Amino acid sequence: MQVAVVTVGDELLAGDTENTNATWLCRQLDARGVSVERVTTVPDRVADIARVVNEYRAEHDAVVVTGGLGPTHDDVTMAGVAAAVGRDLVAHPEALAYLTDHGGYHADDLAEGTTHLPRDARHLPNVEGVAPGAVVESVYVLPGVPWEMKAMFETVAEEFVGTPTHTEEVVAAEPESALVDRLGALREQFDVTVGSYPGENVRLKVTATDRDEVLAAAAWLRDRVESN
Ligand code: ATP
Ligand code: MG
Repeated sequence: MQVAVVTVGDELLAGDTENTNATWLCRQLDARGVSVERVTTVPDRVADIARVVNEYRAEHDAVVVTGGLGPTHDDVTMAGVAAAVGRDLVAHPEALAYLTDHGGYHADDLAEGTTHLPRDARHLPNVEGVAPGAVVESVYVLPGVPWEMKAMFETVAEEFVGTPTHTEEVVAAEPESALVDRLGALREQFDVTVGSYPGENVRLKVTATDRDEVLAAAAWLRDRVESN
């Protein structure tokens, strides 16, 4: 399964809020063997959200959107997603029932629009907060508040399935540029992908779905690089 992640919020683009939701979602999806193909941050603007969600849902198996839920003026994600899938944003009886039954709210206490979801969306209860999430077609809409987002993702995590990969790390105490030939030979001999992450040492990440292939490739590489 291949998915795209869309994080919504002016504060993310301004650098006021660190985008920990994107990192967390990528880690969860990767651990499930799901390939994350895009992470995109868009402002709190209906047209931008709609355009990106619409493009990504056409190209990927699912789109995970987080942030900008709820009834305040800058929370426009549900409107953007509704526009992307060509549905109206309408009061959702199940979302309202959940908040009155479990949240202790009276319908009159809730700000206008709190329980509006794209028509016929699947309601995702917000067990840690108020604003409901939704699944509409292949688009999963989650809150921005990290603990609300995590709790809601857990309830749908099993819908994200893929082929888990195996990764081995090899640390090379050499300049990255010196490794070019050996990494080329490695990729010719083994069916693996190789990531090269320079820092004080170069961390080489060898990945594939076949664990034995990864172990063999990592052993081959370990024998051929300088270690500390
Ligand atoms: P609420 O239901 O409380 O209105 P929301 O879904 O509307 O939540 P936002 O208004 O977008 O979420 O953000 C609420 C808070 O969550 C922000 O102040 C920010 O601290 C945090 N937040 C939002 N998006 C992210 C993100 N991508 N990574 C980390 N934190 C985030
Ligand atoms: Mg909000």
